[in-house]
Amino acid sequence: MEEERAPVRAKVVPNDGWDERLHIFRAGEDVDTFALITQRFLVVVDTMGTPELATEIMQSLQRVRQGRHLVVINTHADWDHCWGNSIFADIEGRYAAPIIGHAKTRARMQSQAARDKLAQKQAEEQRFGTVKLTPPTITFSETLCLDGGDLTLELIPTPGHTDDHVAVWVPKIRLLLAGDAAEFPFPLVHHAHDLPVLRTSLAQISALAPAMVVPCHGGTTDPDLPQRNLAYFDEVARHCRQTLDAGSLPPDWMEAANLPDLIGFSYADALRFVDADPARTPTFYQGFHHDAVRVTLESLSVM
Ligand SMILES: [Zn+2]
Repeated sequence: MEEERAPVRAKVVPNDGWDERLHIFRAGEDVDTFALITQRFLVVVDTMGTPELATEIMQSLQRVRQGRHLVVINTHADWDHCWGNSIFADIEGRYAAPIIGHAKTRARMQSQAARDKLAQKQAEEQRFGTVKLTPPTITFSETLCLDGGDLTLELIPTPGHTDDHVAVWVPKIRLLLAGDAAEFPFPLVHHAHDLPVLRTSLAQISALAPAMVVPCHGGTTDPDLPQRNLAYFDEVARHCRQTLDAGSLPPDWMEAANLPDLIGFSYADALRFVDADPARTPTFYQGFHHDAVRVTLESLSVM
């Protein structure tokens, strides 16, 4: 077992002038999650990576709960968004609540792949020892509406990052909780066939004309984030096309560790393009950029 790092805690992100009903929580570099305080419901959007983190969120919401029905939403089945679910599933428990998610989120959480991922993370870090995979208890496939009285929440399938992904749109305050559909400095795309799907989702959420877009990674509220993500993918594609046209890509490019350099759009260039401060950007985004270049080259070279 790897040496334990400093414990990750769920911290409240101070309200920077946004609607008081929106609460944002941050677990270090893991993830940001949200709560919306409506007249009828206290809606918790994503439960972070462990039951302990989810409990910390609920403790900081204790004051504002005030008899409201507790409702939980999962944006998708990636570990950092739903591994805190178990505290809400115990029907006798203090935080008993329905957990709403896409039918595909439920399927993903019940899969062997999810069990393998949990075993892997548990071997890596002790803090995952208490995680129990707990799929959503209410599922949907198209869209789902939650009428909270003062605010209505629309759950919108926005696949691409993953198949099961949903974003949360709050039309009255033009707020989009983007999950991982949009991300700063850039979203993660795993496979070439996901790229056009994610682009469609980004265009779809951009067309809502949100006043505020809050992703689960990146610590921004920039309403133009979906457009900026699209511009980034366009720029990656432009460099890929140029390189392919010039015929300058080595035959073993798939294995190249410096793939972004081979297309003349290095990680440093990409951070500059999206206006991200390298000193404040977690290093794993280097892998995200590499994947963006790889999937773009894959999709262009089969055309
Ligand atoms: Zn994710």
